[in-house]
Amino acid sequence: MMRYGIPSYRRPRPILNAEIACIGRMGVRISLNRRVDQVEIENQLGDFDAVFVAIGAHLGEQVDIPKRDAGKVLDAVPGIFAGGDVTPGTRSVTYATGHGGKAVHCIHAWLNQRTWQKPPSSALVPYEKLHLWYHTEANSQAQPMLAAEQRQRGFDEVLQGFDKDRTRYEASRCYCCGNCFECDACYGGCPEGAIGILDTGHGYRIDYELCTGCGACIAQCPSHAISLFSRPNQPTGANT
Ligand SMILES: Cc1cc2nc3c(=O)[nH]c(=O)nc-3n(C[C@H](O)[C@H](O)[C@H](O)COP(=O)(O)OP(=O)(O)OC[C@H]3O[C@@H](n4cnc5c(N)ncnc54)[C@H](O)[C@@H]3O)c2cc1C
Ligand code: SF4
Ligand code: SF4
Repeated sequence: MMRYGIPSYRRPRPILNAEIACIGRMGVRISLNRRVDQVEIENQLGDFDAVFVAIGAHLGEQVDIPKRDAGKVLDAVPGIFAGGDVTPGTRSVTYATGHGGKAVHCIHAWLNQRTWQKPPSSALVPYEKLHLWYHTEANSQAQPMLAAEQRQRGFDEVLQGFDKDRTRYEASRCYCCGNCFECDACYGGCPEGAIGILDTGHGYRIDYELCTGCGACIAQCPSHAISLFSRPNQPTGANT
């Protein structure tokens, strides 16, 4: 639908082609002009581990589909998952892409005999909890906008977004509130040597035999990703 439904001024074809090519380079084999009528039979013939059905609805957002919860039928068949327009809910590229991401978790869990549960969101970290003493001032940038007379002449995006360099700059301004980004400040600040560094991407281990609960690590943490908690019958300790 992104090629035949969404107009090219909203979805430029060179970008669409590049994204499909990128998916192919990641190892996905794409079989075109291959109609599937019997999902379970195709599944058995292909000896697939799991199936994700994303056959779309070929309808605009405003069109109501009778029995539109039909996609739920697929829940009843083990190993067959569905997402995108074929399932109930908002029909847009953003939602369809999100369903794909969710399907990855669900299918991965299913293949490992587990059920995926969306992890709970972290508590909101208010500005006062951040320690920004070593952050430099970095103002936000205004996104370029088309002038009113230019907007009348074509379909170009009004709000033009950022190029690669500006996007990088904006991303680098993120405080990562509530999330550890492995800056090692807590590790450097712990007077007891209680914090050990794990491999990149795996955070830190706190040795509760050494931790005195002094809170120095929390005072160092720019993003408030570490907190003190009390354990039953145990001394207070830090927790990342
Ligand atoms: C005219 C129009 C304009 C739109 N404009 C926008 C927009 O501006 N922005 C936006 O976010 N969304 C827009 N949408 C909605 C958006 O296109 C869809 O939400 C999105 O493409 C859904 O993705 P999907 O993968 O679920 O399904 P689709 O993109 O529809 O893909 C389904 C695929 O499955 C294939 N298929 C179907 N049946 C079978 C079968 N039996 N065997 C094998 N293959 C099969 C189809 O050929 C198709 O390639 C628009 C939709 C329409 C109709
Ligand atoms: S609270 Fe524990 S881990 Fe944090 S700085 Fe103090 S001793 Fe180290
Ligand atoms: S918990 Fe905070 S101070 Fe420690 S590494 Fe993560 S972000 Fe840095």
